[in-house]
Amino acid sequence: MQASDTPIIRLEGVKKVFHTDEVETHAVADVRCEIPRGQYVCIAGPSGSGKTTLLSLIGLLDTPTAGTYLLDGREVSRLSATQRARVRNERIGFVFQSFNLIGDLTVAENIELPLTYRAMPAAERRRRVESALERVGMSHRARHLPAQLSGGQQQRVAVARAVAGEPLLLLADEPTGNLDSRNGDAVMGLLRELHRSGTTIVMVTHNPEYARQAERTIHLFDGRVVEEGGHA
Ligand code: ADP
Repeated sequence: MQASDTPIIRLEGVKKVFHTDEVETHAVADVRCEIPRGQYVCIAGPSGSGKTTLLSLIGLLDTPTAGTYLLDGREVSRLSATQRARVRNERIGFVFQSFNLIGDLTVAENIELPLTYRAMPAAERRRRVESALERVGMSHRARHLPAQLSGGQQQRVAVARAVAGEPLLLLADEPTGNLDSRNGDAVMGLLRELHRSGTTIVMVTHNPEYARQAERTIHLFDGRVVEEGGHA
């Protein structure tokens, strides 16, 4: 098998159980799925169906209770927290609903910060920050603080931060949830461009119109995949 045929994500029998106050919640009950390189996938389902938990497992923010997870062919479900952090930082970009920018760092510093945890010369970091800012149309805001930007602009910076790492995989959890429709459309346009340039994207959204922009939707209910579909 050629490396490029290896799915970016392969989950087998993946479960996540939370225990709180003697209540057992099977947030992800038994998920098996493969996501090939370059695919744009939407995870949909009602509130509480396990979308965010599944995205956290895929993003190595959490570990499964059972099952295996191959990320680009490598088993990653039993890694230590330090190893997970390294793989996450080098291979996965995140865009969250709440932007998650650091308030006392400038736009450029926010984008550069994750790159400083890698063995990367300063000149390469600066090149990547500039190119990511250009990509999202925010070069003129490089020295601003997040609070000086609109929500839409902050989310564009968050997308720039995610892509500056040139991730294998981009994960987006309700990326337009805090945006009006104009800014939401702009952020979705950025994701489409990233997909066209070859990035694998897994997105959670409640917005049916945005969900249709993905190539495939995985529907969850009670932590299980209940339906899968490609889009015309
Ligand atoms: P969705 O993103 O589809 O709304 P979630 O993944 O957030 O669903 O949650 C799935 C289920 O797991 C819910 O019942 C939720 O209450 C529960 N859950 C999620 N995270 C935790 C946690 N850290 N501790 C306990 N229960 C959790």
